[in-house]
Amino acid sequence: MPGLYGRRVWSLPPDLPEVDVPPCPACDARRARPAFAIEGLEARIVVCPGCGLGRMHPMPTEEEVRAFYPAEYYGEEGRKFVPIIEAPLRLVGARHVRFLVRDLPRGARVLDVGCGRGVLLSALADRGLEAHGVELSEAAARGADPRAEVRIAPTLAEAGYPDAFFDRVIIWHVFEHLRDPRATLAEVRRVLRPGGEVVVSVPNFSSAQARWAGAAWFHLDPPRHLWHFTLDALRRLLEREGLPLVAEHHFSLRQNPFGWVQSALNRVPGLPRNALYELLQTGGPPGAPLPLPQRLALRAVWLAALGPVVGLSVVEAALRSGATVCVVGRAR
Ligand SMILES: [Zn+2]
Repeated sequence: MPGLYGRRVWSLPPDLPEVDVPPCPACDARRARPAFAIEGLEARIVVCPGCGLGRMHPMPTEEEVRAFYPAEYYGEEGRKFVPIIEAPLRLVGARHVRFLVRDLPRGARVLDVGCGRGVLLSALADRGLEAHGVELSEAAARGADPRAEVRIAPTLAEAGYPDAFFDRVIIWHVFEHLRDPRATLAEVRRVLRPGGEVVVSVPNFSSAQARWAGAAWFHLDPPRHLWHFTLDALRRLLEREGLPLVAEHHFSLRQNPFGWVQSALNRVPGLPRNALYELLQTGGPPGAPLPLPQRLALRAVWLAALGPVVGLSVVEAALRSGATVCVVGRAR
C-alpha cells in the first residue's frame, strides 16, 4: 500500500481519444484528453483542450474525497513536519503573511478558506487583523488559535457568512482540493466587499516544472488535487465570477525549489514516489522504511540541490512560469 504521498502516476499515450466530460468550469469545453492514470483509482487526470485545465475524471464523490484525508494528513498536535523543518516553515509562513496582507489596516477582516491547523490564522491575528477561518475537518482545526473565529463546514457556502463581510479572502493551496471551484469563487464574491480581494495560491499546471516533470510532477499530489490549474484557466475562472485578476506572483521559496528536486527524484526508477517529502515530514515512507544509506542519500541530494533549484525558481518566476502561482482577483 503506497503512503499518503506515494501513489504512482503514469502518463497515458498521447493518441488516446478525447472523452465526454461535464462542461469545463473555465471555458465550457465538453471534451477532454486523458493524460495521466493514478495507482489504485479508476479516475484519470484529463486535460481541457480549450484552457489546459486538468481535472480528475470522473470527479470523486464527497465521501471518496473525505477518505483521501486520513488524520495523519494533518500531522500530530498541530504540527505537520519534523521540528527541524517545521521551524523554518513557520518563518517562511510569517513572511508570506506579511506579503498577503501588507496593505490592510489593523482590524481588517480576513478569511482563510481551508485553514487547517490554523498557522495562517495565528499570523493574521498577530498583525492585528480580525482572523476568520473555515475548515472541513473538525479534527484538523482543533487547537487553532483562540483569537481566530473558526467555522467547521463542508463548503464555504455552508459556513453562512453575511454578504460583503470580508476585506480579503485567502485560499492558500486549497483551491485545487475543492470539488466545485466555480461555486467556491461565486461564494467568495458574495462574502467579499466590493473592492475586496481574493488571493489564490495553487500549483501551476502550465509551468515549466509541470511540463518537464509530467507524471513525476510533485505538485500533482494525487488523489487530493482534484483540479490542475493553468494560468489561463485561473484568469478565466476569476473573470467569470466577478473577481478579475489584478496581480500574479510566481516565486515561492516554500514550494517551488522543493518541487524541482522531488519531481526529479520521482523520475529515478526504484525510488518510491515523493520519498524525500515523506522523509522530511515523518522520518520516512510508511510500510517498509527506506534503508539508512538511501535516507542519508536523499537528504544529501536535497542539501546539494538547494542552491541550484532556488536559482532555477528565480529564473522561472522571472519568466512568469512559477511552479506554483499566487493570483489576486478584485471584487467588482
Ligand atoms: Zn477549459
